[in-house]
Amino acid sequence: MAKLKIYTTDFCSWCDRAKRILESRGIEYEELNIHGNPAMRDEIEALTGRRDVPQIFIDDQHIGDDDDLAELAQTGNLEKMLQLEGEGSMSTTEKNNGDAIEERNVIIIGGGTAGFAAGVYTSRAMLEPLLITGDALGGQLSLTLDLENYPGFFGTEAVDFIQGLQQQAERFGTEVRFDMVTEVDFNRHPFYVKTYEKEYLAKSVIICTGASPRMLEVPGEEEFGGRGVSYCATCDGFFFQNQRLIVVGGGDAALEEGIFLTKFASEVFVVHRRDQLRASQIMQERAFKNDKIKFIWNTVVEEIQGDGEKVNGALLRNVDTDEKQVFPIDGVFIFVGHIPNTELFKGTIEFDDQDYIVVDKLQGTNIPGVFAAGDVHDHIFRQAITAGGAGAAAAISAEKFIAELENRSYPGQ
Ligand SMILES: Cc1cc2nc3c(=O)[nH]c(=O)nc-3n(C[C@H](O)[C@H](O)[C@H](O)COP(=O)(O)OP(=O)(O)OC[C@H]3O[C@@H](n4cnc5c(N)ncnc54)[C@H](O)[C@@H]3O)c2cc1C
Repeated sequence: MAKLKIYTTDFCSWCDRAKRILESRGIEYEELNIHGNPAMRDEIEALTGRRDVPQIFIDDQHIGDDDDLAELAQTGNLEKMLQLEGEGSMSTTEKNNGDAIEERNVIIIGGGTAGFAAGVYTSRAMLEPLLITGDALGGQLSLTLDLENYPGFFGTEAVDFIQGLQQQAERFGTEVRFDMVTEVDFNRHPFYVKTYEKEYLAKSVIICTGASPRMLEVPGEEEFGGRGVSYCATCDGFFFQNQRLIVVGGGDAALEEGIFLTKFASEVFVVHRRDQLRASQIMQERAFKNDKIKFIWNTVVEEIQGDGEKVNGALLRNVDTDEKQVFPIDGVFIFVGHIPNTELFKGTIEFDDQDYIVVDKLQGTNIPGVFAAGDVHDHIFRQAITAGGAGAAAAISAEKFIAELENRSYPGQ
């Protein structure tokens, strides 16, 4: 049997995600935490050329990061590579009852705050919901360290909050599957939902697919991804001990992550295209007070440059004067907003002009029985608390829809 080894660090949600994938499949692994261990950090960089974690090996073969692991798991190839098949272990497809189309009352697409809130409410309504997590269990909160503004949760680590979301939903009867929806057909009822591993029919579907970090889309960004370009400070900050970093963006996420990076970096330059920040006052005050943070105003990153191996500079342009400069830098952390994860529903569900799903006051979409909640429809508030509230509302609406469908009475009627 082959051995799986995973390099991680503290406060790395993507490392936690990789470990959860392995644990949910009963796969044993050796964890090598590089936090506070510069020799091990240098070793991983030498072995892979990468400056991010997690990095995963099967025996001596580097298989990549958590995304690569998720893909291997979802395609059933992970067990094959580990030579686990045939030794009594089951692929997830087998665990999920093979090829038969499974019929459910409610399918919740998305394992973020909105999805789990919908799970709590639909399971308490005895609808035995199925929640399909996608590749980011916990959603966007898995990209951050602390959750400071969710009422009732003060100074809570995001990773604990995510575990709580899942445990609470499961306790009431939500079935959580680590899988990815690849196709839907809402033109028939029950609605059709296909994942990497299975096909389903559902009386009601709640879409909670949230949003993903927006890329800068400049030359060098893709080439140096994981080699100095990052979208997660808590995961990758440790690789930049005493180095100079750029954070791109002017919102809460940019400042929060920038402040976190000052634990490691010698200097953090926040590059913002305007002369004012969008971030909340409290975040602005914290950033302005931090000696290691400097601001480069009215400026955009035009190109990320490197030596072939890793980032060594960024081409900056002042938007007022058009003046350009090559800024020597070791890493670029990008927090420039989000795009809704709605591609899957294009042509079926009504979108607004920014590709967010349009919902009514009951979280209903243009298709009766299909509801949406969270950042997938909300481009104004985009908070965990508002996503959770919308998830609960969508669940109550789904419960009512199914009760009416089955000619049953509905609580409150
Ligand atoms: C760095 C950072 C820090 C933040 N800090 C805070 C904070 O302190 N407080 C706060 O209130 N908010 C914070 N937010 C915002 C908050 O995280 C979001 O508003 C919230 O996560 C939205 O929840 P959601 O469930 O709508 O979507 P998401 O959290 O985006 O979750 C979407 C889910 O859908 C799944 N998915 C996507 N596509 C598919 C598919 N095809 N099949 C199955 N599943 C799929 C994903 O895997 C994921 O599980 C922060 C955001 C970021 C990026």
